[in-house]
Amino acid sequence: MDPARSIEDQFSKLHPCLPVNTRIGIVGGGPSGLSAAYALCRLGYKDITLLEKRRTVGGMCESVEIEGKVYDLGGQVLAASSAPVIFQLAKETGSELEEMDSHKLAVIECSSGKYQDINVADDYVSVMSLTLDIQEKVKNSDRIGIHAISELASDLSPEYIERHGLKFVPKSVAYGYTASGYGFVQDMPYAYLHEFTRTSMAGKIRRFKGGYTSLWQKIAESLPLKLHCNTEVLALRRNSEGVTVTVKNSDEVHAMEFDKIIISGNFPLKYGRTYWSPPSACIEQETEVMDVSDLERELFSKVETNDYYTTVFKVKGLEDMPVGFYYFTEFMEDPGTIGNPVALQKFYADTDIFLLWSYGNSGDIKGPTVTKLAIKAVEAVGGKVQNVILQRRFKYFPHVSSQGISIFNGFSILFSFTK
Ligand SMILES: Cc1cc2nc3c(=O)[nH]c(=O)nc-3n(C[C@H](O)[C@H](O)[C@H](O)COP(=O)(O)OP(=O)(O)OC[C@H]3O[C@@H](n4cnc5c(N)ncnc54)[C@H](O)[C@@H]3O)c2cc1C
Repeated sequence: MDPARSIEDQFSKLHPCLPVNTRIGIVGGGPSGLSAAYALCRLGYKDITLLEKRRTVGGMCESVEIEGKVYDLGGQVLAASSAPVIFQLAKETGSELEEMDSHKLAVIECSSGKYQDINVADDYVSVMSLTLDIQEKVKNSDRIGIHAISELASDLSPEYIERHGLKFVPKSVAYGYTASGYGFVQDMPYAYLHEFTRTSMAGKIRRFKGGYTSLWQKIAESLPLKLHCNTEVLALRRNSEGVTVTVKNSDEVHAMEFDKIIISGNFPLKYGRTYWSPPSACIEQETEVMDVSDLERELFSKVETNDYYTTVFKVKGLEDMPVGFYYFTEFMEDPGTIGNPVALQKFYADTDIFLLWSYGNSGDIKGPTVTKLAIKAVEAVGGKVQNVILQRRFKYFPHVSSQGISIFNGFSILFSFTK
């Protein structure tokens, strides 16, 4: 979709290309599955079934209530230019947003607990001409996002930046990128950093008052679809008639038939690698859920996801810390420090709940190690963890390497197929 044009306007010019009673199944009730459902309903399709393994929709835009307040564990922030479509959906569903003006953006030293504001504006200005230059080059292409620039900026970020006259990726760009769960900048093609600076660094930031999940729940409720939560897709087989999907719902396993299927989220990425995983844990051993062709397997195997953890603590001793995001300087630049938290967030002024974000590697650095290192970091900055409230491991940010981006120029995380 063209984010600059209204959703109404864009759908008014489209028509369904299949009979409207085509049975369409969608695997995954996260933002991409629900966006597909939204588009299909708008186009007039009448038989859409959405299958979600968890008890609610929202995927990695997961919000939880802790001691009467709502916290976003994954998706949280909407920057002015990153989310025009989301802002439209918020308006349509009457979802209230709040500005995060009071949220500090600071670097914190683990060794001393000292923190100081990070200079986002100056750093942003220093890459602006590069950002505008790339944007100008893609202005007339009919592609958007990474797809539009994958040919222009597939080189690794440090090389790309140097070739364009800058000595290094400015600190707040690099730290903001890494703390958002996108990996360390030296490992990433510049195309991803460009998208980050273009969409996330300018203007006010906002979040949903009721939590990000509430938006997706409202969208799901507003659509004429058959929504099955607590329904895990175990297997997917294509045949000459359509697709047979084996699902598990409250311990019962049964088959569902569709004419077309759309798969979303990380479902097709079972064959992919984990970012910075040791060779022994390189390919996750998971049951074969899809009858993939050799080409599909080859495509999916090029995609890496990051193990990105959100750990929530109740902390004593940091009551005076202002609300905001704090980047741990010691762990921001060297992937050798993976496991230690890259960032900490105090969400509300009047609570002692803190969120910590850390990378794992699916090998020797998993949940318990991440928790241990996060507790150590909190202690180093003067706090004491009273309680580990919860932890999530997200399989986040499907991405490809510099070589992968050239080979699979145009790879999309929403991959639909049928026979
Ligand atoms: C730590 C973190 C911070 C983030 N910060 C932001 C932010 O500030 N702003 C922002 O806009 N975005 C942010 N994001 C990104 C945002 O959350 C994702 O881009 C978005 O959730 C991706 O949507 P998706 O539908 O592609 O995948 P997902 O959200 O992963 O949804 C996939 C869905 O499929 C379901 N599923 C998987 N397997 C099966 C199966 N076998 N059967 C049935 N269902 C299945 C899952 O349960 C899930 O609900 C963040 C993400 C993380 C992890």
